[in-house]
Amino acid sequence: MGTASLPRRKFDVVIVGAGGSGMRASLQLALAGLNVAVLSKVFPTRSHTVAAQGGIGASLGNMAEDNWHYHFYDTVKGSDWLGDQDAIEFMCREAPKVVYELEHMGMPFDRNPDGTIYQRPFGGHTANYGEKPVQRACAAADRTGHAMLHTLYQQNVKARTNFFVEWMALDLIRDSEGDVLGVTALEMETGDVYILEAKTTLFATGGAGRIFAASTNAFINTGDGLGMAARSGIPLEDMEFWQFHPTGVHNAGVLLTEGCRGEGAILRNANGERFMERYAPTLKDLAPRDFVSRCMDQEIKEGRGCGPNKDYINLDMTHLGGDTILKRLPSVFEIGHNFANVDITKEPIPVVPTIHYQMGGIPTNIHGQVVAPKNGNPNSVVGGFYAVGECSCVSVHGANRLGTNSLLDLLVFGRAAGNHIVDSGLKKQSHKPLPADAADASLARLARLDSSTNGEYAQDVANDLRDTMQRHASVFRTQALMDEGVKKVADLAERVKAIGLKDKSKVFNTARIEALEVDNLIESAQATMVSAAARKESRGAHTVNDYGDTPEHPNGRNDEVWMKHTLWYSEGNRLEYKPVNLKPLTVESVPPKVRTF
Ligand SMILES: Cc1cc2nc3c(=O)[nH]c(=O)nc-3n(C[C@H](O)[C@H](O)[C@H](O)COP(=O)(O)OP(=O)(O)OC[C@H]3O[C@@H](n4cnc5c(N)ncnc54)[C@H](O)[C@@H]3O)c2cc1C
Repeated sequence: MGTASLPRRKFDVVIVGAGGSGMRASLQLALAGLNVAVLSKVFPTRSHTVAAQGGIGASLGNMAEDNWHYHFYDTVKGSDWLGDQDAIEFMCREAPKVVYELEHMGMPFDRNPDGTIYQRPFGGHTANYGEKPVQRACAAADRTGHAMLHTLYQQNVKARTNFFVEWMALDLIRDSEGDVLGVTALEMETGDVYILEAKTTLFATGGAGRIFAASTNAFINTGDGLGMAARSGIPLEDMEFWQFHPTGVHNAGVLLTEGCRGEGAILRNANGERFMERYAPTLKDLAPRDFVSRCMDQEIKEGRGCGPNKDYINLDMTHLGGDTILKRLPSVFEIGHNFANVDITKEPIPVVPTIHYQMGGIPTNIHGQVVAPKNGNPNSVVGGFYAVGECSCVSVHGANRLGTNSLLDLLVFGRAAGNHIVDSGLKKQSHKPLPADAADASLARLARLDSSTNGEYAQDVANDLRDTMQRHASVFRTQALMDEGVKKVADLAERVKAIGLKDKSKVFNTARIEALEVDNLIESAQATMVSAAARKESRGAHTVNDYGDTPEHPNGRNDEVWMKHTLWYSEGNRLEYKPVNLKPLTVESVPPKVRTF
């Protein structure tokens, strides 16, 4: 069977991913009358965005004086000066607008007595350039992502977006000029493969958090968009930067939102000490995530961890009172009960830093267009291809994302990409002709699985991969561990090529889907390990013991050599670098300085 025999469907735009970013983009397109298809491996409202708890960052100033300049400053500082300041300015300025839009769509935000949107403090968000925590996170109890995703889904249904539910995109289709012409996709129910042709293709496939063993992420977060982009020759940016969230439930991985600390929860060590006061005298428990995670790890390493094995930290909410907890953190209350057997109104809950978010991804500009180096231009636009949300790297989060800035990123850049596509006049354009071999790579991947007679189970290889990443790319890294990790992941890549599929049936064969996902996990893992081992400094979430605090390089950050973005290419495991954009759109640059809190 070859490309020519596959069924085809044509759309103006194909969007892969029905999370917050994909559905914000599709809404813009459908409202403009474009023919849009949105693919998702799961029902749209089960995308990982639904799990977001804490809030959306926007300087509405409803509960304390705030403005977008403070938000801009906090985000640049939070990124450890790896974020691009044009993109950060754009996001922080647009933030109030996209939040009010969402409110007008019917998003059920919590309210203040005067009717305005309730806002809570969050890590790293401050007033007056770092002076004190500020209330900036717009929240719907601790179910903000749930409320947002349902709001966007309803608006899309109204706008007549076409949803392809339980469809898995397999590979990008590019022509000889490098333009993107659509995707190949598998209909899970039948096992049939289709070609979905598009004038413009947009990836909104979310993160690859499942490359780690202990993760707050949904099982579907296997980095499919990253794998598809990498296999088609597009580099991945800054993949060494992975965020550990300070408060995953010990031994369960389930997230307890930073909103807990926003509402006043305190981290305590085995002595009951509020140790964050020692590390971050101003922001205390509300310092950014990379910083708090490292402090927790340090406490555990120095023997002040809690429990019989001294291997976790206690998150104490008992002083907040049952009423506040049930009103502002009802899901956290349930999680405590279900995953830790703890009544959080009466006793502390055991937590550990847990993998949460990828700062890197498919490189884009502020319009969501995918960019890659070409003819000496590091940011040359890839024709017909956009990416938004966690799978993209625009880069607003740099080396460390501030909490609430992801939901914001989805809204701002989902909307911006939608507008940019509408303005490009797609309606009048015709589809470019497909190359004769458009689907050959996907068909070869499927044929290999279908002809396998033995070989390892996909899940066994995936589990070894997750354990390797957990050990070799952790909260604190060492050069030796990372170098060893590069070799181990390369060995795992060989094992991935020899995975076997025992059940060859077509209808809803989840074993085939898992095997196909491992092809994407391995690209994401290699990008992470290789990029990490090459970055010989500490910055944001990439903290390497070998590159510690020195007078020339406070906190181990080396701006002269390493203030640059990594670009990893799958072919040959090759790295390139491109400069960070320190120039905002209209305001003055925030010059690099040492991060203290
Ligand atoms: C537990 C948790 C809590 C969080 N809380 C917050 C918070 O309070 N505030 C905040 O700002 N951020 C938070 N984050 C981060 C934020 O929620 C995510 O970064 C964001 O929701 C990702 O959205 P997305 O649109 O990029 O992708 P997702 O919501 O992950 O959606 C990805 C979509 O892509 C589809 N897809 C993937 N691969 C394929 C394929 N091959 N074929 C077809 N479809 C595919 C999936 O089916 C899905 O529809 C949290 C994250 C987690 C895990």
